[in-house]
Amino acid sequence: MGKQTAFLDVPRQEAGYRPIHDRIHDFGEVEQTLNTGDRRRQASRCMDCGVPFCHWACPLGNKAPEWNDALSKGDWELAYRLLSSTNPFPEFTGRICPALCEKACVLNLYDHQPTTNRENEAAITEMAFQEGFIDMHLPERNGKRVAVIGGGPAGLAAAHDLNLMGYAVTVFEKNEAAGGLLRYGIPNFKLNKEIIDRRIKLLDQEGIEFRYNEEVAPEAVAGEFDAVVLAMGTPQARDLNVPGRELKGVHFALEMLAQQNRVLAGAEFTKEERVTAAGKNVLVIGGGDTGSDCIGTSHRQGALSVTQIEIMPRPAEGPDDPKNPWPHFPRTFKTTSSHEEGCLRRWNINTLEFVSEEGCVTGVRVQEIDWQPNPKGGRPLMVEKGEPEVIKAELVLLAMGFLKPEHPQYPENVFICGDAASGTSLVVRAMASGKQAALLVDEYLKL
Ligand SMILES: Cc1cc2nc3c(=O)[nH]c(=O)nc-3n(C[C@H](O)[C@H](O)[C@H](O)COP(=O)(O)OP(=O)(O)OC[C@H]3O[C@@H](n4cnc5c(N)ncnc54)[C@H](O)[C@@H]3O)c2cc1C
Ligand code: SF4
Repeated sequence: MGKQTAFLDVPRQEAGYRPIHDRIHDFGEVEQTLNTGDRRRQASRCMDCGVPFCHWACPLGNKAPEWNDALSKGDWELAYRLLSSTNPFPEFTGRICPALCEKACVLNLYDHQPTTNRENEAAITEMAFQEGFIDMHLPERNGKRVAVIGGGPAGLAAAHDLNLMGYAVTVFEKNEAAGGLLRYGIPNFKLNKEIIDRRIKLLDQEGIEFRYNEEVAPEAVAGEFDAVVLAMGTPQARDLNVPGRELKGVHFALEMLAQQNRVLAGAEFTKEERVTAAGKNVLVIGGGDTGSDCIGTSHRQGALSVTQIEIMPRPAEGPDDPKNPWPHFPRTFKTTSSHEEGCLRRWNINTLEFVSEEGCVTGVRVQEIDWQPNPKGGRPLMVEKGEPEVIKAELVLLAMGFLKPEHPQYPENVFICGDAASGTSLVVRAMASGKQAALLVDEYLKL
């Protein structure tokens, strides 16, 4: 514990985002950093609670009190060792984790000023890379081979742990590079892709074999390898089957987000292939995080206007949700950096049809609704309010989540993890699930 009264004397300080006028024209990371003195002061606010709820809330079982203590004392190397003992890639979670731990922090219950764990995590990891605290592990091989299908956070976490246990690991990735949604979903303004490249280079040097542009089925490799970890994510986005879905200008969110990340990595697309918001009114259907990433991307591409609609009601204003109390993650109203950049947000809006001119979408007919209690119990009833209206849009992005994959009965040496097992979730949960799969593989192969 850095200083016993720091949680009373030192207010929570976030590094904040770059000013909107500065960030809106580029895809550089929006989040700023604190200087090392302020960062250490922030770490000193951790109270080393008798029952650390942050530890309970983090799917990776973080040791935040321990690494915050080391950081507050200026021992960055120890802080990194403690952090990386549970988290294989803290440079990812330090940037894009919704910080379940901070919501469960006792200081959040006390006055809504939790410790800045996520930012501390990113700062510790960047210092570790800068100062060379990251050791290269070259474990002795145990003679067994494991295939990992999918190079997203779940597959990478499984590969990392299995490699450390001595297995010869091959990661099969259908894309041209590893990272899964970290690389081809999450925009660069939240996570710079050099951060992924830096880690993949290390994993490669530690002996993990990466095979890109190889889409494989578990059954195809289950005989060749001693075990298989299936970490293929949730490939199928939820569709909106209303009239006009086939029109030019109606796309799944990932068609735009993945393409934009590829363009930033140097890929080229023809004018016909390009999904861009430049000079267009954009409508994002879906009020979640993927929708928010579409908003930030649309701004940077030069959209004329951006509107986001959601069929569900507006969430309760934060910071607490009585239906969902501390230490659980509150499902309250959230404003992201992309929302701050400008966007009309509407709730209780149902989509009726896409309208068009000459085969191109020009707008979306929508209906305001109300959710009323169902007298028979169960799902509330959707009741129409007022007249339908048309929202002008030359680009419509569908950001309504992903379907949970269904899996056949695989051979017994196949272990499923990440979003492929749970349905769409979070990077930190995918990593925790990948680590769990590695343990199960080890248990199975040691029998
Ligand atoms: C736009 C967007 C933004 C998000 N933002 C956040 C965020 O800010 N914070 C957060 O915590 N979570 C976020 N998420 C959720 C998070 O990205 C996922 O929960 C996480 O990436 C799941 O990891 P995964 O490894 O299970 O799957 P994925 O990341 O989907 O990786 C699966 C990998 O498997 C590969 N693959 C699939 N089939 C095969 C095959 N047959 N052969 C070989 N390879 C295959 C895919 O190409 C992919 O690389 C976001 C999701 C989206 C869509
Ligand atoms: S991974 Fe997320 S929940 Fe866990 S310590 Fe880091 S920010 Fe908190």
